[in-house]
Amino acid sequence: MAKKLYNEPSPLETKVISKRWGLEGSETLDVYLANDGFKAFLKAREMTPEAIIEEVKTSALRGRGGAGFPTGLKWSFVPRTSPKPKYIVVNGDESEPGTCKDRLLIEYDPHNLIEGILIAGLAMDAHKGYIYIRGEYRFVIEKMNKAIAEAYARGYLGKNIAGTGFDFDLYTHSGAGAYECGEETALLDSLEGKRGVPRMKPPFPAVAGAWASPTLLNNVETFASVPAIIRDGGAAYAALGTPKNGGTRLLCLSGHVNKPGVYEIPLGFPMMKAINELGGGMRNGKKLKAVVPGGSSCPILLASECDIAMDYDTVAKAGSMLGSGGMVVLDEDTDMVAVALRIMRFYAHESCGWCIPCREGTTWLRKILQRFNDGGGRHEDIALIGDVAKNMFGRTFCALGDAAAMPTMSIIQKFSHEFEERLAKQGSGLVSING
Ligand code: SF4
Repeated sequence: MAKKLYNEPSPLETKVISKRWGLEGSETLDVYLANDGFKAFLKAREMTPEAIIEEVKTSALRGRGGAGFPTGLKWSFVPRTSPKPKYIVVNGDESEPGTCKDRLLIEYDPHNLIEGILIAGLAMDAHKGYIYIRGEYRFVIEKMNKAIAEAYARGYLGKNIAGTGFDFDLYTHSGAGAYECGEETALLDSLEGKRGVPRMKPPFPAVAGAWASPTLLNNVETFASVPAIIRDGGAAYAALGTPKNGGTRLLCLSGHVNKPGVYEIPLGFPMMKAINELGGGMRNGKKLKAVVPGGSSCPILLASECDIAMDYDTVAKAGSMLGSGGMVVLDEDTDMVAVALRIMRFYAHESCGWCIPCREGTTWLRKILQRFNDGGGRHEDIALIGDVAKNMFGRTFCALGDAAAMPTMSIIQKFSHEFEERLAKQGSGLVSING
């Protein structure tokens, strides 16, 4: 039997979108149909598009890709009466370091994603959809294609779906390994066969997205949450979380904990409980030093800042973001100079190079941090790193510049003493310059 890629479920979890993981054959249509599958679609077919959107608004679902924008509001932006074709596009690029949830949703419950897409199709009067999956996920694309083929064969895609008179065609599209294509407009260019660079906004994809037509674009997890919202009602879903932060989300817990894994938690779950109970506490009994709460682009939180609830608003108040759900726990032995370098190497490599503050800023920062890490740091570099990051922030064409700047600024602000300690060791000859 194939090795399971997810952890054993915890009684602390609230399972909504991961509830079928672990069932034998969970990726098949038969298992899906035997476990609430397509009930929500049939219910939605009896609803007006406005009522579907209203239910999503009531659920207080927020985009699970990173930005946390209210989903129902986003759905209401698409001009459903436009004479142009409308498209549903699913962002499965999942390239934010620390994040590994969308692949599980596709691997273990692909028909739930299909059902969420179909409901969105009903709400938008759209009849065509694309699931954009990162190129490195070859095996995930194969699993999605298999599920799509099964859905077509059994009448859950194509013409007259489940005898309802609704038609919908669904395709997968492979990315080519660019972080940038997780940005919605770069993703759309890539989908259209162009180089994946961000577009000028406005117009936003809701109005002029794929092939300049109205397009609803959400993350895999966002669409996967929709069937439960329609089936059980938006209010019931909202009640699982906190005000304006409805439902549950997948937490990708990694780093220096005893039980890393992907856990489904209600919005508002305490961060320290996630580390100490879901994650089984710190590895080797070490002390907590810091947490990256939602993927590598988020400002880092000190251990003393982590006694908070994990919902979008509370984490934002604490100075960071819930992001894509990729939470990386760092223990007392973690070298924050090395962390800053590791993060910047990633962003410098992934910068598409279009705008100067990002292209030059990430490259400069990578070089300065590399030199510092290798023992060639200068005292003025500490302020210089913070200054370059600050000057990138808010001055780049897309969010990648901010994604590179934010963790760097937080590391310089909160861990400058570690940079000073490096300089002291360097002065004493304890660190060698080795390039
Ligand atoms: Fe490209 Fe970076 Fe500019 Fe985004 S911010 S457009 S990734 S150069």
